Amino acid sequence: MRTPVIAGNWKLFKKQGDAVALVEGLIPLVKDTVGVEIVVAPVFTSLSAVCEKISGTNINLSAQNCYWEEEGAFTGEIAPGMLADAGCSHVIIGHSERRQYFGETDETVNKKIKAALKGGLVAIFCIGETLAQREADSTFDVLRTQVTDGLAGITAAELAKIIIAYEPVWAIGTGKTASDDQAEEAHAFIRGLVTGLYDQGTADAIRILYGGSVKPENVKGLMSRPNIDGALVGGASLKADSFAGIVNFQK
Ligand code: PEP
Repeated sequence: MRTPVIAGNWKLFKKQGDAVALVEGLIPLVKDTVGVEIVVAPVFTSLSAVCEKISGTNINLSAQNCYWEEEGAFTGEIAPGMLADAGCSHVIIGHSERRQYFGETDETVNKKIKAALKGGLVAIFCIGETLAQREADSTFDVLRTQVTDGLAGITAAELAKIIIAYEPVWAIGTGKTASDDQAEEAHAFIRGLVTGLYDQGTADAIRILYGGSVKPENVKGLMSRPNIDGALVGGASLKADSFAGIVNFQK
C-alpha cells in the first residue's frame, strides 16, 4: 500500500509574510487529513519561517532545489545538509523549469539526487516530456533516458527515499492536464522501467506523482488510477483552499 503524496511547489512566489499566511490558512484545512503525505515547497528564504509554523502539524517541508556538494566555494548554492538543518525533509530535484532555464541535465540531476539522499532528504525526482517530444512520439524514449540516467548508481534501498514526479512539460502551468489515461499510461511505463532497473517489489513500493495543472476538480480522476500515487502541484498550491481541496481528494 503506497501512501499518497500531495506536494505544493510554490516556485518563485510568496515572500515570507505571504508564505506564512498561506501555511497558516492551510493548517486548519488539512489537520484532520490522515493517510496523505502533505508537502509544501516555499522559496529558500521562507523555509525557516514556514518550518516554525508547521512544527507539530502533518505538513512536511521541501526545498525546490539543492546543489550536490556539501560545502565549499560555490557561491549562491545550497547543500542538502543545510536544507535539512533549516527543517526540510524533502527536496524537489530536476523540475522541468530547472532543466529548461538553468541547464540541469540528467547527469546533474543524478548528482543532486545522490547528494539529497546523503544529506538525509527525500528526493522528489521530476521527469517529463515536452510537447515537441510527445508529438514526435518520443515520450517513452525520453522517460526511459531520464529515469535510467537520473537513477544511475542508486540502489534499491536508496530508492525508498525517492519519489518520482511525472510532469509532462506541456501540462505545467498551461491549464492543460494530461488525461487520466495519458497520465496512467506514462506512470505504468515508469513503474515498468523501475521494475526492469530494480525488481518488482521496489517498483511496487515507489510513489509516482503526476504534475501538470492539477486542481481540486481533476485530482479525483487522476488519483483513481492504479499507478498514480499523488500530485506535484504548482499554481493550485498557492491558495490554501485549492491546495486543501487537492490534499483532501478522498473526501
Ligand atoms: C509544477 O510546477 O510542478 C506544476 C505542476 O505546476 P502547475 O500545477 O501550475 O501546472
